Amino acid sequence: MHQVSVSLAGTILATVALTGLTAAPALASTHGARGAGDRYFPLQGNGGYDVKHYDLRLRYDPASRHLRARTIIRATAKKRLTSFDLDFRRNLRISTVTVNGVGAVFHQPAALKQELVVRPFRAVAKDKTFTVVVRYAGTPAAITDPDGSVEGWVPTKDGAFVVGEPQGAPSWFPCNDTPRDKATYDFRVTVPRGVTAIANGDLTGQTRKGRWTTFRWHNREPMSTYLVTVTTGRFDVRTGTTPGGVPYYIASDPKLTAKSSAVLAKLPAVTDYLAELYGPYPFSSTGAIVDDASKVGYALETQTKPVYDRPPDELTLAHEAAHMYFGDSVTFKRWRDIWIAEGFAEFSSWMWSEHTGGKTAQGFFDTYYKKKATSSVWKPPPGNPGSAANLFSASVYLRGAMTLQALRVKLGDATFFDVLRSWHQTHRGRNVTVGQFRAFAEQRSGQDLSRFFDVWLVRKAKPTSW
Ligand SMILES: [Zn+2]
Repeated sequence: MHQVSVSLAGTILATVALTGLTAAPALASTHGARGAGDRYFPLQGNGGYDVKHYDLRLRYDPASRHLRARTIIRATAKKRLTSFDLDFRRNLRISTVTVNGVGAVFHQPAALKQELVVRPFRAVAKDKTFTVVVRYAGTPAAITDPDGSVEGWVPTKDGAFVVGEPQGAPSWFPCNDTPRDKATYDFRVTVPRGVTAIANGDLTGQTRKGRWTTFRWHNREPMSTYLVTVTTGRFDVRTGTTPGGVPYYIASDPKLTAKSSAVLAKLPAVTDYLAELYGPYPFSSTGAIVDDASKVGYALETQTKPVYDRPPDELTLAHEAAHMYFGDSVTFKRWRDIWIAEGFAEFSSWMWSEHTGGKTAQGFFDTYYKKKATSSVWKPPPGNPGSAANLFSASVYLRGAMTLQALRVKLGDATFFDVLRSWHQTHRGRNVTVGQFRAFAEQRSGQDLSRFFDVWLVRKAKPTSW
């Protein structure tokens, strides 16, 4: 779905070496690293610090598409920093950057696309918490990936549809754009009267001044940058609490309310069912945002409130809701391990179907298992997609979900769901690898599953015996 060619990334790295900004070796040792080490996205994320909190203040006018913003980042230095990078694309104009209240030198090397290099007036000492304030304005641009799909800040007729997987967040706010650096968030979003601004977490206030309305949202549980949304537009909003006690906030574009209400009405039941299956819901609230943005072509599990580019079907609703456990609460460390999110979410949508008397998870397994060995259902193996271009391959979802159904049959329901429940309980709020899941499943079930996982997740061929 989202492609970045590996050869292109290689070219960028070569350019970095040639035009290196920090010439002196003594200085380089106190510069935060330019990337977080992900092989699929070498420049994504940064090193040298850990973000604790983002405070985003945005003012957006859908008519002019103009954004004015201020981002405050509170972070802890993991080493002495004379300079460090944030991820921020060059489409918006930065007016000032301060570190601990003092103006800092900054620049955005043209060759690097998404790096904002900051040199504080005074170096930040190791283990110290520091505050960066970035003020900027302009017209945010959506990122078009090589396969034609879009992400980032996508303008709609009445607002913007905002999604960031895998690399859209830095198109509208400066951040440490790696799934590994989770942080809490406050949002203050000002939009013209009549427009609603919806972000992750809980609505804490709404004030009107002249022809503008400001919405305040607080996201309490740490969140990866690719899961952030600030979607704006005209919306019908329904709020309530599921029978199991989880507050929800459901918004739909008024043109799509009639078409989406029957499926959205299932969200409370889906939420409570997933809690039965996997344990207590991991966040302070749940919800959904249905927008009129079908040019986007996909839905995304933005934390606490997945966004849908059109009215979702029930399987998609269940898939995104399950991501709150697998993807959002328990998140992969590197993109290669995307199966940890997509395989689990897809399998969960099959479970919802089974639970509601529709096709069973085994029924889905059987349907896809009939596919020929040459089908895209099988390639690439979900435990090793091979490149960023393959992250959202059908096999990551379908063979990925079949892996879990096969494991369910092998272990039996009691053991299998105990593994999934305790996996989430043990790692909630953290980042994990596929290797960790394999080890965890073996330890918890007391079975040797190395061949099973090799056959399903790693080997290229269609699994025939396991
Ligand atoms: Zn998904």
